[in-house]
Amino acid sequence: MNIFYAPPSQINNGFIELLDQEAAHASKVLRASEGDVLHVVDGQGGRYKGPIRRITKNSIQLEIEEQRKISAPNPELILGMGIIKKRDRLEFAVEKAIELGVSEIMLFRSDHSIKENVRMDRLESIAVSAMKQSLRAWLPQISLYRSLELLLDDVQDADILAAHEKVDGNGKQKIHSGRDKKLLLVGPEGGFSDSEISMFTERDAQLVSLGENRLRTETAVVAFLSQYL
Ligand code: SAH
Repeated sequence: MNIFYAPPSQINNGFIELLDQEAAHASKVLRASEGDVLHVVDGQGGRYKGPIRRITKNSIQLEIEEQRKISAPNPELILGMGIIKKRDRLEFAVEKAIELGVSEIMLFRSDHSIKENVRMDRLESIAVSAMKQSLRAWLPQISLYRSLELLLDDVQDADILAAHEKVDGNGKQKIHSGRDKKLLLVGPEGGFSDSEISMFTERDAQLVSLGENRLRTETAVVAFLSQYL
Protein backbone atom coordinates (compact mmCIF):
# COMPACT_ATOMS: atom_id res chain seq x y z
CA MET A 1 0.00 0.00 0.00
CA ASN A 2 1.32 3.44 -0.89
CA ILE A 3 1.36 5.91 1.99
CA PHE A 4 1.78 9.65 1.47
CA TYR A 5 2.96 12.29 3.91
CA ALA A 6 1.32 15.64 4.59
CA PRO A 7 2.23 17.66 7.71
CA PRO A 8 -0.70 18.98 9.81
CA SER A 9 -0.28 22.43 8.19
CA GLN A 10 -1.51 20.88 4.93
CA ILE A 11 -4.58 19.28 6.52
CA ASN A 12 -7.55 21.64 7.03
CA ASN A 13 -11.37 21.59 6.96
CA GLY A 14 -11.66 17.98 5.87
CA PHE A 15 -9.15 18.28 3.02
CA ILE A 16 -5.48 17.30 2.60
CA GLU A 17 -3.00 18.97 0.24
CA LEU A 18 -0.18 16.76 -1.04
CA LEU A 19 2.64 18.96 -2.31
CA ASP A 20 6.09 18.70 -3.90
CA GLN A 21 7.51 15.20 -4.23
CA GLU A 22 4.52 13.64 -2.45
CA ALA A 23 2.19 15.05 -5.12
CA ALA A 24 4.62 14.19 -7.91
CA HIS A 25 4.91 10.61 -6.63
CA ALA A 26 1.14 10.16 -6.59
CA SER A 27 0.33 11.82 -9.91
CA LYS A 28 3.30 10.89 -12.06
CA VAL A 29 4.64 7.62 -10.67
CA LEU A 30 1.30 6.12 -9.70
CA ARG A 31 -0.72 8.01 -12.35
CA ALA A 32 -3.31 8.61 -9.66
CA SER A 33 -6.50 10.27 -10.94
CA GLU A 34 -9.56 11.98 -9.44
CA GLY A 35 -11.56 9.60 -7.26
CA ASP A 36 -8.60 7.33 -6.46
CA VAL A 37 -8.44 6.72 -2.70
CA LEU A 38 -5.06 7.47 -1.07
CA HIS A 39 -3.69 6.86 2.43
CA VAL A 40 -1.90 9.70 4.22
CA VAL A 41 0.02 10.11 7.50
CA ASP A 42 0.72 13.49 9.11
CA GLY A 43 3.81 12.54 11.18
CA GLN A 44 1.97 13.39 14.41
CA GLY A 45 0.07 10.11 14.75
CA GLY A 46 -2.73 10.98 12.32
CA ARG A 47 -3.68 8.48 9.60
CA TYR A 48 -6.13 9.53 6.86
CA LYS A 49 -7.86 7.95 3.89
CA GLY A 50 -9.82 9.63 1.13
CA PRO A 51 -10.39 10.19 -2.57
CA ILE A 52 -8.55 12.61 -4.81
CA ARG A 53 -10.75 15.62 -5.50
CA ARG A 54 -8.38 17.86 -7.49
CA ILE A 55 -5.02 17.42 -9.25
CA THR A 56 -2.97 20.47 -10.26
CA LYS A 57 0.57 20.77 -11.61
CA ASN A 58 2.26 20.35 -8.22
CA SER A 59 -0.49 19.56 -5.75
CA ILE A 60 -3.14 16.94 -5.12
CA GLN A 61 -6.17 17.62 -2.93
CA LEU A 62 -7.83 14.75 -1.07
CA GLU A 63 -11.11 14.79 0.78
CA ILE A 64 -10.82 13.06 4.17
CA GLU A 65 -13.20 10.12 4.35
CA GLU A 66 -11.66 8.29 7.32
CA GLN A 67 -9.14 9.33 9.91
CA ARG A 68 -7.65 7.84 13.07
CA LYS A 69 -5.05 8.71 15.66
CA ILE A 70 -2.22 6.23 16.19
CA SER A 71 -0.77 6.38 19.70
CA ALA A 72 2.87 7.35 20.06
CA PRO A 73 5.35 4.46 20.33
CA ASN A 74 5.75 3.23 23.91
CA PRO A 75 8.39 3.23 25.39
CA GLU A 76 9.38 6.63 24.11
CA LEU A 77 12.90 5.91 22.85
CA ILE A 78 15.27 8.76 22.06
CA LEU A 79 18.43 7.79 20.19
CA GLY A 80 21.53 9.86 21.00
CA MET A 81 24.19 8.97 18.41
CA GLY A 82 27.70 10.30 17.95
CA ILE A 83 28.22 11.63 14.42
CA ILE A 84 30.09 9.08 12.33
CA LYS A 85 32.32 9.83 9.38
CA LYS A 86 30.73 7.84 6.54
CA ARG A 87 27.53 9.60 5.41
CA ASP A 88 25.91 6.41 4.08
CA ARG A 89 26.47 4.67 7.42
CA LEU A 90 25.00 7.62 9.33
CA GLU A 91 21.98 7.63 7.00
CA PHE A 92 21.62 3.85 7.41
CA ALA A 93 21.55 4.26 11.22
CA VAL A 94 18.86 6.98 11.00
CA GLU A 95 16.72 4.88 8.64
CA LYS A 96 16.96 1.75 10.85
CA ALA A 97 16.24 3.73 14.02
CA ILE A 98 13.00 4.99 12.50
CA GLU A 99 11.98 1.55 11.26
CA LEU A 100 12.62 0.28 14.81
CA GLY A 101 10.27 2.85 16.35
CA VAL A 102 12.52 5.59 17.72
CA SER A 103 10.60 8.72 18.83
CA GLU A 104 13.43 11.22 18.36
CA ILE A 105 17.03 11.23 17.09
CA MET A 106 19.63 13.52 18.64
CA LEU A 107 22.99 13.51 16.82
CA PHE A 108 25.99 14.87 18.69
CA ARG A 109 29.56 15.82 17.92
CA SER A 110 31.35 13.43 20.25
CA ASP A 111 34.92 14.06 21.44
CA HIS A 112 35.95 11.28 19.05
CA SER A 113 33.70 12.34 16.18
CA ILE A 114 35.86 12.90 13.11
CA LYS A 115 33.25 14.62 11.02
CA GLU A 116 31.78 18.06 11.63
CA ASN A 117 28.90 18.70 9.24
CA VAL A 118 25.75 16.69 8.66
CA ARG A 119 23.34 16.95 5.71
CA MET A 120 20.18 17.43 7.78
CA ASP A 121 18.01 17.91 4.64
CA ARG A 122 18.96 14.43 3.47
CA LEU A 123 18.31 12.96 6.91
CA GLU A 124 14.85 14.57 7.01
CA SER A 125 13.82 13.07 3.68
CA ILE A 126 15.24 9.68 4.73
CA ALA A 127 13.12 9.96 7.88
CA VAL A 128 9.92 10.62 5.88
CA SER A 129 10.64 7.66 3.58
CA ALA A 130 11.40 5.34 6.52
CA MET A 131 8.20 6.41 8.30
CA LYS A 132 6.08 5.72 5.19
CA GLN A 133 7.88 2.47 4.34
CA SER A 134 7.38 1.11 7.87
CA LEU A 135 3.72 2.24 7.83
CA ARG A 136 4.30 4.51 10.84
CA ALA A 137 2.33 7.68 11.53
CA TRP A 138 4.98 9.38 13.70
CA LEU A 139 7.86 11.34 12.16
CA PRO A 140 10.80 11.51 14.61
CA GLN A 141 12.46 14.89 15.00
CA ILE A 142 16.19 14.85 14.15
CA SER A 143 18.44 17.37 15.89
CA LEU A 144 22.17 18.06 16.05
CA TYR A 145 24.14 18.93 19.20
CA ARG A 146 27.65 20.40 19.41
CA SER A 147 28.51 18.11 22.29
CA LEU A 148 27.19 15.20 24.35
CA GLU A 149 26.95 17.51 27.35
CA LEU A 150 24.58 19.87 25.52
CA LEU A 151 22.51 16.89 24.45
CA LEU A 152 22.29 15.52 28.00
CA ASP A 153 21.31 18.95 29.32
CA ASP A 154 18.43 18.99 26.83
CA VAL A 155 16.81 15.72 27.89
CA GLN A 156 14.68 15.74 31.02
CA ASP A 157 13.13 12.89 33.02
CA ALA A 158 14.43 10.05 30.89
CA ASP A 159 16.37 6.97 31.90
CA ILE A 160 19.81 7.24 30.32
CA LEU A 161 21.34 4.06 28.91
CA ALA A 162 24.71 4.24 27.19
CA ALA A 163 25.91 1.35 25.03
CA HIS A 164 29.54 0.79 25.91
CA GLU A 165 31.77 -2.01 24.71
CA LYS A 166 33.99 -1.92 27.75
CA VAL A 167 31.32 -3.11 30.16
CA ASP A 168 30.80 -6.78 30.95
CA GLY A 169 27.21 -7.58 30.16
CA ASN A 170 26.83 -9.93 33.11
CA GLY A 171 23.17 -10.14 32.26
CA LYS A 172 22.25 -7.91 35.19
CA GLN A 173 21.49 -4.95 32.94
CA LYS A 174 17.96 -3.77 33.54
CA ILE A 175 17.17 -2.08 30.24
CA HIS A 176 13.40 -2.42 30.48
CA SER A 177 12.72 -1.26 34.02
CA GLY A 178 12.34 2.37 35.03
CA ARG A 179 10.66 5.18 33.13
CA ASP A 180 8.92 4.87 29.77
CA LYS A 181 11.08 7.65 28.35
CA LYS A 182 14.59 6.36 27.62
CA LEU A 183 17.63 8.01 26.07
CA LEU A 184 19.74 5.36 24.32
CA LEU A 185 23.26 6.56 23.61
CA VAL A 186 25.68 5.12 21.04
CA GLY A 187 29.18 6.46 20.46
CA PRO A 188 30.98 7.24 17.17
CA GLU A 189 33.64 5.01 15.57
CA GLY A 190 36.18 5.90 18.24
CA GLY A 191 33.76 5.23 21.07
CA PHE A 192 32.99 7.51 24.02
CA SER A 193 35.84 9.54 25.50
CA ASP A 194 36.75 9.22 29.17
CA SER A 195 35.14 12.58 29.91
CA GLU A 196 31.95 11.45 28.17
CA ILE A 197 31.96 8.26 30.23
CA SER A 198 32.35 10.34 33.38
CA MET A 199 29.28 12.38 32.34
CA PHE A 200 27.34 9.11 32.33
CA THR A 201 28.38 8.24 35.85
CA GLU A 202 27.57 11.81 37.04
CA ARG A 203 24.05 11.40 35.65
CA ASP A 204 23.80 7.82 36.97
CA ALA A 205 23.31 6.52 33.46
CA GLN A 206 23.36 2.77 32.96
CA LEU A 207 26.22 1.43 30.84
CA VAL A 208 24.86 -1.35 28.63
CA SER A 209 26.74 -4.15 26.92
CA LEU A 210 25.59 -5.27 23.47
CA GLY A 211 27.56 -8.52 23.66
CA GLU A 212 31.20 -9.55 23.62
CA ASN A 213 32.08 -8.36 20.14
CA ARG A 214 32.75 -4.86 18.88
CA LEU A 215 29.92 -3.54 16.72
CA ARG A 216 29.99 -0.62 14.32
CA THR A 217 28.00 2.38 15.50
CA GLU A 218 25.21 1.72 13.03
CA THR A 219 25.05 -1.96 14.06
CA ALA A 220 24.95 -0.99 17.73
CA VAL A 221 21.99 1.31 16.98
CA VAL A 222 20.06 -1.64 15.51
CA ALA A 223 21.11 -4.05 18.29
CA PHE A 224 20.18 -1.55 21.01
CA LEU A 225 16.80 -0.43 19.65
CA SER A 226 15.66 -3.92 18.63
CA GLN A 227 15.75 -4.94 22.30
CA TYR A 228 12.63 -2.81 22.80
CA LEU A 229 10.55 -4.27 19.98
N1 SAH B 1 35.66 2.22 21.22
C1 SAH B 1 35.85 1.14 20.28
C2 SAH B 1 34.77 1.03 19.23
C3 SAH B 1 33.57 1.90 19.38
S1 SAH B 1 32.21 1.17 18.53
C4 SAH B 1 37.13 1.38 19.52
O1 SAH B 1 37.69 2.48 19.65
O2 SAH B 1 37.51 0.49 18.81
C5 SAH B 1 31.07 2.50 18.44
C6 SAH B 1 29.97 2.48 19.50
O3 SAH B 1 29.15 1.34 19.33
C7 SAH B 1 30.47 2.44 20.92
O4 SAH B 1 30.75 3.74 21.40
C8 SAH B 1 29.28 1.82 21.64
O5 SAH B 1 28.31 2.83 21.90
C9 SAH B 1 28.72 0.87 20.61
N2 SAH B 1 29.18 -0.51 20.77
C10 SAH B 1 29.94 -1.22 19.90
N3 SAH B 1 30.12 -2.48 20.34
C11 SAH B 1 29.46 -2.58 21.54
C12 SAH B 1 29.27 -3.62 22.49
N4 SAH B 1 29.77 -4.85 22.30
N5 SAH B 1 28.54 -3.36 23.60
C13 SAH B 1 28.03 -2.12 23.81
N6 SAH B 1 28.16 -1.09 22.94
C14 SAH B 1 28.88 -1.32 21.81
